[in-house]
Amino acid sequence: MKKMGQLYEGKAKKVYATDEKGVYIVSYKDDATALNGLKKGSITGKGAINNRISNHLMAMLEEQNIPTHLVQELNDRETAVKAVTIVPLEVIVRNIAAGSLAKRLGLEEGLKLASTVLEFSYKRDDLGDPLVNEYHIKALALASEDDLRQIKEYSLQINTILGDYLLPLGIELVDFKLEFGKTDDGTIILADEISPDTCRFWDVKTHEKLDKDRFRRDLGGVEDAYKEVLFRLMGGL
Ligand code: UDP
Repeated sequence: MKKMGQLYEGKAKKVYATDEKGVYIVSYKDDATALNGLKKGSITGKGAINNRISNHLMAMLEEQNIPTHLVQELNDRETAVKAVTIVPLEVIVRNIAAGSLAKRLGLEEGLKLASTVLEFSYKRDDLGDPLVNEYHIKALALASEDDLRQIKEYSLQINTILGDYLLPLGIELVDFKLEFGKTDDGTIILADEISPDTCRFWDVKTHEKLDKDRFRRDLGGVEDAYKEVLFRLMGGL
């Protein structure tokens, strides 16, 4: 497979065309942003770590019958993925109150939610990815009713599978963000990434943060936290 021209550059990844039909290459960057792009930085080695973490978790989800964009890890920071059109929604799944939910609803961070919360944001950087509900999604045709039903079903399944997978590794799945895409034949699949950039991972025992909150909140030890997640996924404890 040959890498062709760059199609897109986002905050954490670049996407390239390839000479193979229906296949793109994503390249993970070390760049990190937070607070809707106001806070910028770089985390040494992040691209390579997230590439491996995301591929590992997507391969695990595939085994549990969740269709994902993963085709093949190519090298340290590059992966071949199925070409999709991204549904312009960020799906947020929450098990424990943290971040913007804790702030918005006046909840103490760490409060276990009585049931899983699903939220949607409209993917619009210029608007700061505003929260939308299912009426907005329908009214603005951001996703069809069938696609949204499928996206919700996969998101809740992923929450269960991922949470059950991480717990024995000493990682609590607090919340996370998913993005879905549509292939040429209209199939909805999981796209983007699953990594400490897009999830809140807390150590089960110490509640230490093993995710991007270390960067967002200037807690230090960002790279070590990402490495720790990869280490545990690779079988270390
Ligand atoms: N998240 C993300 N990208 C975003 C916004 C949120 O990956 O643009 C993830 C974030 O890492 C966390 C979850 O979604 O795991 C919920 O984030 P929240 O709404 O609390 O926003 P934040 O506090 O990160 O601004």
